[in-house]
Formats: sequence, structure tokens, C-alpha cells
Amino acid sequence: MKKIGVLTSGGDAPGMNPAVRAVVKKAIYEGLEVYGIYRGYEGLMEGAVKKLELKDVGDIIHRGGTILQSARSDKFKTEEGQLQGIDVLIQHGIEGVVVIGGDGSYRGAQKLHQKGIATIGLPGTIDNDINGTDYTIGFSTAVNTVTEAVDRIRDTATSHEYTFVIEVMGRDAGDIAAWAGLATGAESIFIPERGSSKEEMLERLTKGFQRGKKHSIVIVAEGVGTGNEFADYIRENSHYQPRVTVLGYVQRGGTPVPFDRILGTRLGTHAVELLMKGESGKALGMQKNEISVHDFDYVFSDDSKDSNIVTKLADISTELSL
Ligand code: ATP
Repeated sequence: MKKIGVLTSGGDAPGMNPAVRAVVKKAIYEGLEVYGIYRGYEGLMEGAVKKLELKDVGDIIHRGGTILQSARSDKFKTEEGQLQGIDVLIQHGIEGVVVIGGDGSYRGAQKLHQKGIATIGLPGTIDNDINGTDYTIGFSTAVNTVTEAVDRIRDTATSHEYTFVIEVMGRDAGDIAAWAGLATGAESIFIPERGSSKEEMLERLTKGFQRGKKHSIVIVAEGVGTGNEFADYIRENSHYQPRVTVLGYVQRGGTPVPFDRILGTRLGTHAVELLMKGESGKALGMQKNEISVHDFDYVFSDDSKDSNIVTKLADISTELSL
């Protein structure tokens, strides 16, 4: 293999840049040519491909987002779109591609793999919702961002004796809510993986205020509903007047924390090694501090679903919300 490509796809995540940087530097170190494919599969089909040099990845290790930009493309889900993308790769002589993105991006990479282009996937999403890895690139930064935001909100909650309902991202996964909820000492955490009762939330709020607590924080993962729905429930069933904050896109951006930089760097270099060995159709991750390598099919299957740590974290939070 002499020429490889790298693209970022789906939602951007902090740590994608360190991963791109690692792929580029490792490829050049190994004597390969490396091409940046801009705007994910959309850019691939349009031929937005550029040879990258060391200078192109200078000064990006600490930057959020992705210098390669990202996109979602319905056309690439079709056979026609995939063949168009493969034509572009063949024109440039690119034999292998590192795809950094979420589950959907892996499905696109699987299609390329099945059609003869070597692909390796790196888990790039803040949601931590990819099977076969304990952590995705961007998740730790998002937890950090949410924790900082909730700490600030807590100052106001304490000063005014407010109850705050804070809605966080994560799509169908409760990881950001569970981790940040535990880190901020939230009274209640609502995640899709675990049924929690709104009545119990109210009981905990009441008990807390009765023993002199000056504030309450409820964290709601977007996968269970909106912050406003939960606030409405509290308003309708108690005398509390909760405030709602929807953290939104602030959770996606920002300087990647060291963990995400290191994860992206380790997985990026390993992806190049695997392509050089002729591997393809593999999703990389980190399990028990070791790099994990799984077939895409395994990652898509139910067999790879981990016994979820997030429910444990939410359980601990409930126990401690005395
Ligand atoms: P995030 O977790 O941030 O949403 P994602 O990678 O899951 O990231 P998607 O929008 O689901 O985001 O997928 C990214 C892109 O991957 C899609 O826009 C599409 O181009 C491609 N893709 C998704 N599913 C398929 C599929 N079944 N076949 C081919 N390509 C696909």
C-alpha cells in the first residue's frame, strides 16, 4: 500500500484533529502518501481530495472540530454514490481509507470495504455510543465541558435556591448524562438505558430541600426526553419552579482534553499500521486500556453491547442522593 486517505464523517468531535494528525504523520513516517478527503463521504464523491504534508497538520493537536470538515450524505448510502466515491479513490490511486466518525460512518466504511477498498474505522463521536470500545474520541471532552457548565449553573442554583433541569446530548445513549451527572453530584439523572421514576425525582428534591439543600440539579439525556418536559412535570406536581438549560452544541466543540488527544493519536497510528498489514473492515477502539480491533459486523451486532457502565453510574448517583 502506497497511498492512503483519511476522512471525518458524521458529527464533529473534539479529538478528530489529533487523530487526523496522527494518521498523516504516521503515514509519512512510514513512507506512504496520505490524502485528506474533505467533507466526509460527500466530499469523497465530489473529488474533494488533497495530498497532505506535515505542515497541513501542524498546530491542530489542540483544536476542536475537524480540519477535514464533516458532512452527512444520503447519496453515499446508495450503490451509485459508493461507486462514485470509489472512482475518485481509484483516480488518486488511494487503496486504503481511515474513516473517523460514528456508527453511520462505519456503515459507509463497511460498504467501501465490501467493494474492495481497505477501510479502518476510528470511533469519533461525543456520544460514546459505539460498541466494541469503552470510549469514543470526543466523549471525555464533552463530559468535561458539561461538567464545567453544570458547575457554573450550580453557583446560580445555590445562590437563588433554584432547581435546574439540564438537558445534555448523547442521542440514544446516556453516557454523557451519567458521567457528567455523577461528576456534578446531580440529584437525579435520566438516561435511556435505565428506567427512572419522575415521582422518585420529586421525592428526592423534596427531601433535599427539607434538610436544607439550597439547590437541586436534574440531568436529562436527550434520549429520554426534553428538559422542558421534565421541568413541566416538576411544575405541575410540586411548588418548585425549575429553570431549564439545554446545553446544545457547546458540548460538541472545544479544545480536546488530553485523554481524547491520546486516544485519537493511538488509534490513528494503529490504523495506519493495520492498513500496511493489509487489514480492512475493522473498527478500532480501546477496551480495558488495550487497543481493540473488531470487524464492523461485530460492532453492528447486539453481541458487542457491553454490560452498561452507565446504569451503574446512575445507580451510584441515586444511592448518594439521600
Ligand atoms: P454521529 O454519531 O456523530 O451522528 P455518524 O457517523 O453516526 O456520526 P451518520 O449521519 O449516521 O453519522 O453517518 C454519517 C454518514 O455515513 C452518512 O451521512 C452517510 O453518508 C454515511 N452512511 C450512514 N449509513 C450508511 C449506510 N448504511 N451505507 C453507506 N453509508 C452510510
